[in-house]
Amino acid sequence: MKIRIALAGNPNSGKTTLFNALTGSHRSVGNWPGVTVEKKEGYLKDDGNVIITDLPGIYSLSPYTPEEKAARDYLINERPDAILNIIDGTNPERNLYLTTQLAELGIPMVCAVNMMDEVEKNGDDIDTEGMSKAMGCKVTKLSALKGTGVAESARAAIRAAGDGIAPRIKIFPADVESALVKIENTALATLPEELRRWFAVKLFERDAAAVAALPAPLKTQVGKKTESIIKEAEKACGDDSESIITNGRYTYIESLMKSCRKKKSAGKPTV
Ligand code: GDP
Ligand code: MG
Repeated sequence: MKIRIALAGNPNSGKTTLFNALTGSHRSVGNWPGVTVEKKEGYLKDDGNVIITDLPGIYSLSPYTPEEKAARDYLINERPDAILNIIDGTNPERNLYLTTQLAELGIPMVCAVNMMDEVEKNGDDIDTEGMSKAMGCKVTKLSALKGTGVAESARAAIRAAGDGIAPRIKIFPADVESALVKIENTALATLPEELRRWFAVKLFERDAAAVAALPAPLKTQVGKKTESIIKEAEKACGDDSESIITNGRYTYIESLMKSCRKKKSAGKPTV
């Protein structure tokens, strides 16, 4: 059976460099359906059973740009066996925003912190073990440019695909989390479990594109069941639901990096 691994990440995170290192010359280039965004697929070097797809570089899974839409449609409709999520280690905060969304898809994921040569050149480090514990998925270090950690990251992604276990990060504060669980258990109870978190967050955000993607009977029913739950959370948080989710992600990322980024200068006494 073929294993399908999708490379996801921000623009300039090193996806294409990694894709080339993983696939060598065994690749095909086309377009994503309906858009002139380049689609690259290839077999893992020395393993014809593993297909790597290079997703468009994106900052979030919003359905606004053609790149975001192509990546989101692929992940939701095609559901690869694992996501290999490339994070630029020199700017992890920005890259982790997308990570918090990818983690909700119910798809096994490995995070690969790239550009480690740059990070280490400055004497800094990233506690990938700590990140791994916090996010409930494997986090590797690599330099796609130098080729270090590339094979290990691919192996980790293959293992994650085999295990079939998706990350389950606790991102949001308690009252938001309980609203999401309520939405999962009432409006989305008939969906397969691995799909519920993604749709619960999207319903909470009142994302019309996500509602339209739900199966027919649910599509028309969910609004009635979720609106009171959303209103209650908005009242408790004093903010609109979309901002609640966005702020929740930023707060989570800030606290994660506070504990996992190891600055060389940190801890040194100031003059
Ligand atoms: P993409 O937009 O995600 O496909 O990123 P690219 O693969 O095109 O890489 C963007 C830039 O980062 C290029 O100049 C690469 O040479 C560079 N790059 C990629 N990986 C690394 C790495 O591990 N270390 C360093 N120092 N540069 C890298
Ligand atoms: Mg690229």
